[in-house]
Amino acid sequence: MSTSTILITGGAGFIGSNLCDYFLQKGYTVICLDNFATGHRHNVAPFLSNFNFKLIEGDIRDYSVCKHAVDGVDFVLHQAALGSVPRSIKDPITSNEVNVSGFLNMLVAARDAGVKRFIYAASSSTYGDSESLPKVEDVIGKPLSPYAITKYVNELYAEIFSRTYGMETIGLRYFNVFGRRQDPNGAYAAVIPKFVMQMMKHESPVINGDGLYSRDFTYIDNVVQMNELAMLTTNPEAVNTVYNTAYGDRTTLNQMVHLLKDYLSVYDSSIGTIPIIHGPNRVGDIPHSLASIDKAKRLLGYAPKYAFADGLKEAVNWYWQNLK
Ligand code: NAD
Repeated sequence: MSTSTILITGGAGFIGSNLCDYFLQKGYTVICLDNFATGHRHNVAPFLSNFNFKLIEGDIRDYSVCKHAVDGVDFVLHQAALGSVPRSIKDPITSNEVNVSGFLNMLVAARDAGVKRFIYAASSSTYGDSESLPKVEDVIGKPLSPYAITKYVNELYAEIFSRTYGMETIGLRYFNVFGRRQDPNGAYAAVIPKFVMQMMKHESPVINGDGLYSRDFTYIDNVVQMNELAMLTTNPEAVNTVYNTAYGDRTTLNQMVHLLKDYLSVYDSSIGTIPIIHGPNRVGDIPHSLASIDKAKRLLGYAPKYAFADGLKEAVNWYWQNLK
């Protein structure tokens, strides 16, 4: 059991609530800071009775909220942000305020409170228009969306804070994370939960493009493992840098949908006959994404436990049990 205190911003969201869950089970004291912009009360409801859990309802755009939240904290796992490329294209100002100004507020607050390490959600979108595959951490292209700019700026600020103030930071470039509690609803829902919900309702999923675009879909438990490794590493070479956070394999959208159909058919055989619709490609989408995870393996000892298909089976099971 640990005596350390972790602040998880965005702890009511998909990734943040899984981090809260895991670290509470490990005996840490967990503080969740969230304004419920895209997160949900039901994601944190099971933790509220835990003596080691504290919920702060507040906005990272307000510096005084950040300052209050970091008081007495050992580690920050900063997840709060407005995700989604299309959302940032529609409203770049709000995405920038939350993802850049909010991030900077958190960095300054963490620096002043003397936290041991600041670990933050970076993004594979930072690879932008770079076509090289697999993606290695130090070869990036130009950002393709306002969201990608915000996530890249996070990395730039973290590096400057490490150099200028001697803060320890680690950025985790998440690649298409999926799994339990990812929100299937709303205009900016991610593709896997959206398709699962549609198929559970016997609706046809619409793939943007011919379905040959591919992604390094990453199961949530691999992401939790990376956060833990980043938090606990004692290797001085492993800090003040960024890591791809992925499984290290790619799956086309067509393959993903066919697997989804197979897994959902176990519960309802008629789902196997639902036709798939193809629409136009989406602005800002990159054709292929595949991470090299060599750096995380070498410096952090990362060994992802869930390949895509294994994680997808777990996720489908969770959606069927909880949202059907
Ligand atoms: P999510 O929307 O489920 O979680 C984000 C959380 O941040 C929500 O609970 C939301 O209410 C909270 N939040 C938003 N604005 C806030 C504000 N102003 N103040 C306080 N809290 C605020 O999204 P997620 O998928 O869990 O993403 C978590 C992080 O990982 C984000 O930083 C996102 O950019 C990053 N990321 C996610 C993926 C992915 O595939 N899910 C990929 C790359 C990067």
